[in-house]
Amino acid sequence: MSKYVFFFGGGAADGTAAQKNLLGGKGANLAEMVNIGIPVPPGFTLTTDVCTEYFKNGKVFPAELDAQVNEALAKTEALLGKKFGDPSNPLLFSVRSGARASMPGMMDTVLNLGLNDEIAEGLAAKTGNEKFVWDAYRRFITMFSDIVLEVSKEHFEGDLEATRREVAKGKGIDITKYNAEELKTKVPDSELSAEDFRKLVTVFKGIVLKHTGKPFPTDPREQLWGAIGAVFGSWHNQRAKTYRKMHDIPEAWGTACNVQSMVFGNLSDASATGVAFTRDPSTGENAFYGEWLPNAQGEDVVAGIRTPFNVTTRAAENSGSPGTSLEACMPAAYVTLKGIYERLEKHYRDMMDIEFTVEEGTLFMLQCRVGKRTAAAAVRMAVEMAREGLITKEEAIMRVDPASIDQLLHPTLDPKAAKKTLAVGLPASPGAASGIVVFSADEAEKLASEGTKVLLVRIETSPEDIHGMNAAQGILTARGGMTSHAAVVARGMGKCCVAGVSALNIDYKAQKMDITVYDGKVAVETVTIKAGDFLTLDGSAGKVYLGAIPTVAAQLTGDFGQLMEWADEVRRLKIRTNADTPHDAGVARKFGAQGIGLCRTEHMFFGEDRIAAVREMILSDTVEQRERALDKLLPFQREDFIGIFKAMDGLPVTIRTLDPPLHEFLPTERAHIEDLAKTMGVSVEKLVQKTAELHEFNPMLGHRGVRLAICYPEIATMQMRAIFEAAVACANEGVDVQPEVMIPLAMTKRELDKMKAEFDAIGAEVLPKAKKPVSIMFGTMIELPRAALCANELAKTAEFFSFGTNDLTQTTMGLSRDDAGRFLPEYVNSGIFAKDPFQSLDVEGVGQLVAMAVERGQQTRPDIKLGICGEHGGDPASIHFCHSVGLAYVSCSPFRVPIARLAAAQAVLVGRGKSVASTA
Ligand code: ADP
Ligand code: MG
Ligand code: MG
Repeated sequence: MSKYVFFFGGGAADGTAAQKNLLGGKGANLAEMVNIGIPVPPGFTLTTDVCTEYFKNGKVFPAELDAQVNEALAKTEALLGKKFGDPSNPLLFSVRSGARASMPGMMDTVLNLGLNDEIAEGLAAKTGNEKFVWDAYRRFITMFSDIVLEVSKEHFEGDLEATRREVAKGKGIDITKYNAEELKTKVPDSELSAEDFRKLVTVFKGIVLKHTGKPFPTDPREQLWGAIGAVFGSWHNQRAKTYRKMHDIPEAWGTACNVQSMVFGNLSDASATGVAFTRDPSTGENAFYGEWLPNAQGEDVVAGIRTPFNVTTRAAENSGSPGTSLEACMPAAYVTLKGIYERLEKHYRDMMDIEFTVEEGTLFMLQCRVGKRTAAAAVRMAVEMAREGLITKEEAIMRVDPASIDQLLHPTLDPKAAKKTLAVGLPASPGAASGIVVFSADEAEKLASEGTKVLLVRIETSPEDIHGMNAAQGILTARGGMTSHAAVVARGMGKCCVAGVSALNIDYKAQKMDITVYDGKVAVETVTIKAGDFLTLDGSAGKVYLGAIPTVAAQLTGDFGQLMEWADEVRRLKIRTNADTPHDAGVARKFGAQGIGLCRTEHMFFGEDRIAAVREMILSDTVEQRERALDKLLPFQREDFIGIFKAMDGLPVTIRTLDPPLHEFLPTERAHIEDLAKTMGVSVEKLVQKTAELHEFNPMLGHRGVRLAICYPEIATMQMRAIFEAAVACANEGVDVQPEVMIPLAMTKRELDKMKAEFDAIGAEVLPKAKKPVSIMFGTMIELPRAALCANELAKTAEFFSFGTNDLTQTTMGLSRDDAGRFLPEYVNSGIFAKDPFQSLDVEGVGQLVAMAVERGQQTRPDIKLGICGEHGGDPASIHFCHSVGLAYVSCSPFRVPIARLAAAQAVLVGRGKSVASTA
């Protein structure tokens, strides 16, 4: 016989916290609290197995269930000395949903179950509190009808409102002045009388009869089974389904159902209800933080009709209402609560989110779970708990979700500053910034160069706006999603961006925008912002604020620095960065980068002072012409590398020779073509024709990478010479240089041999000029399946491999990253791909090639240096994979370096059997 029902109460429970899968989070933790002697109203949990079988068998409960429920019910009755359905001494229940993963507010709960007219009279006689009983009864009818009978609670609102109006009139309030919502605060439910509630009960029952054709069920058992079925049914409501999709919670899990004896926070002024966190969930401060309401039932705290008070006196004083705290009003209950929360934190060794109710001075716990927290709070709590000895350093490392710390690496709004929210859009790129509004990229650049802080506001951005985005403090757009141009570019720049704010109505001509300001769903006013007005953006929250709000710089020291240090002690993978400029290299170094894993040289060709020479080089007809143009570029390249080597003094720098197809550098506008023709002394027609010749149908698989160097060796030779000369110059100034020359897109040993011959020849010529020995490594990227297959051959020439997993993903899957946007989201949504393979490495497929190349490379050259430099280098799941196949390092964009440091440490700990907490 299966055990479907788990009892909890009287100091002993059938289950424990470890049984979340079977009992759901709520049920497992109720059991755990009972087991450790914390006061919890007794009851029992119907397992998630009941839920799955119920649906499997066409909404029929397992045969044994009835007897098991009866047994647990009898146990609860015996413990409390009350009887379910007995008017002289009634027991009431709450029927509460509770899945494995917390799904706050997504599923249903019915309170005060077990009432009918006769029982209500009995309870009134017993408690001597008619108002409480009839209030509870009308709440029960509303909740039960809404959830079980599918008579929406809106049907009851009209009569409740009419009653409120009557009461208001009696108090001499001019009711014509207030709408229904306002009336709720003018006449809170507590002002209604027992008689008002009694009348409402009668009216409500009439409404149910009208809508269902049947009287409201009076048999408590019928009510109980109805509620149980509805709670299981709520697993399949639309809200819950959507939430599961968003949070990757499997449909198959099902929910548990908790039937728990009621305690009443609304029995009198000596009763109360509240919710609390054992530490502050937004800052992480070790300070108890909670809210409570006297004489109220649980739902009232969240319903927002009455504003709850602070639990602690400290918080109440800070918010300017001393004397309203639970600590001050119910000192005995507070002391009990304090003892309990401290025990819970010690027991669970984590910050807990708790729900409690005080009935006539006696405190009961109704729920506890590991609390959700901001990234900043997660870091602070993890470090402080490790220092307190509550958890180990290793556990502290596992407590923080690496992806979430992105928010911490950027400036944030001063939490103490007053703010007025104007509009909300998508949190496209984290960080906060304020500045004056400008509507064009050119204006942004101009004002920024004069030292003014600007925000670039566009309907949407395009590649022509890059210079303005670069100059601005932040970017705001009216259209576009999380993968819009503005969002992607801003994230790459590490700049804050709020995208897709549909409330903006931008008029470029008039240099202004109208913003419709909403309160919830209601438009309350229109604010006009002109060019030059101050705004503030919070890219982590997706919010737009009026005026300039002070920001606080990212805190890379303190708790964050400590956590990173602990991660560094544990991790094996080195973390490098992808950077092309001394500035980016410097930023990455501050974030802890241990070298550059990818320095792209093509960006250096785009500079205003160079592009002409580059174009001349490309359009040359003879080797001599080309060399002449390259001679102009050599000094620029050398200076670039000197800058980077100095910024990376003492650390390795991998430089990739030119990769993109040449046509990317050619002018497309007529005026530019004419200019170029003049400087080069050739006809416009010739240039146009040459450009056409370079056109490729599929440039991604075309004349690029090492293939350029095979046909035009002078380009790569110039670059290598620049690298060698820069290295020697730096070494002679005392800089510790460790350059690595990396050949892109190779797939044969013969390609590499040809490049290596040039490399050796230049080395032989340049390196002897160094005052002390300089050594430069030669290696290749692995970006093609053939390269991975023939890795043993390539390793004969290459001293290192760097996996270019962007291209390796494209070429292995036959997917063009630029075009896949049309169908890839559908692949991800429908579950064909678990994740976008460009964001998270396809371990199943592409991963095999990586693993194979590692193995084959090491066969040829046991000490071959191995790393990865694709976008995946900053993705935690991909980092775990890189660790597991034994790479030496991952390389990622500067702002992802700390994320990678933490993920690399977690990869080690996961290998030791630890699991990552998901508390964000
Ligand atoms: P959710 O999962 O949405 O938080 P709960 O099952 O926790 O729903 O119920 C919501 C609220 O109802 C609780 O916070 C608590 O205040 C109240 N409640 C639930 N069960 C009881 C009970 N047995 N006695 C008194 N109040 C209860
Ligand atoms: Mg709850
Ligand atoms: Mg590539």
